[in-house]
Amino acid sequence: MRVSRIGIMGGTFDPIHIGHLIAAETAREQCDLHEVWFIPSYAPPLKANEPGVSGQQRYEMVCEALESNSAFRALDIELQRGGVSYSYDTIMELKHRYPDHTFFYIIGSDRINDLPQWHQIEQLANQVSFIGVERPGDPINLDALPAFIQARVQLIPMPAIPISSTAIRGKVKAGKSVQYLVPDRVYSYMRRNSLYEA
Ligand code: ATP
Ligand code: MG
Repeated sequence: MRVSRIGIMGGTFDPIHIGHLIAAETAREQCDLHEVWFIPSYAPPLKANEPGVSGQQRYEMVCEALESNSAFRALDIELQRGGVSYSYDTIMELKHRYPDHTFFYIIGSDRINDLPQWHQIEQLANQVSFIGVERPGDPINLDALPAFIQARVQLIPMPAIPISSTAIRGKVKAGKSVQYLVPDRVYSYMRRNSLYEA
């Protein structure tokens, strides 16, 4: 198999929004990635899932969002594996399944700053490099990170998208519109299934 450069977008995607998609598309273009694979976590290590929305529903929203981009794929490997979703386990599984691919982990600035707390970060940083994008309100402080992490993070510019899933859930709960903050197909899915409503 041809060597492919694959970006990995991990997250809870509760729900997926245009910030995730623009980050992935920016990384794909600027870092010459062949594809970006979106991997919804089953149980994220450092935060809680929103009750009432299943992993299957988060995965289905990701599938809806990626429909129009043939370079984007949704993978349900963390949902299938269950338990706490450690990126290290996921990357090892992917490298085992696809030994000829090179993987790049795409992460926003909030996650860059907490990289030292990631499970088995030293081993993970040996296996992948990170493509970092800045999120409004979360300045990246690379100097605060250990040298072995700094050496593995490449920062790329991306348009500032001040959107989070937390803000989207809050808006829906408050009866406010989230149209255009999520792709149309995700918006329809959320409405059809009454997700995040009060
Ligand atoms: P929540 O508010 O529930 O934490 P979120 O918007 O942060 O949701 P996640 O699923 O936690 O979304 O994030 C997945 C990945 O996407 C993380 O690496 C995060 O930093 C990145 N990301 C999320 N929103 C943006 C954004 N607006 N711009 C750039 N990166 C983002
Ligand atoms: Mg988050």
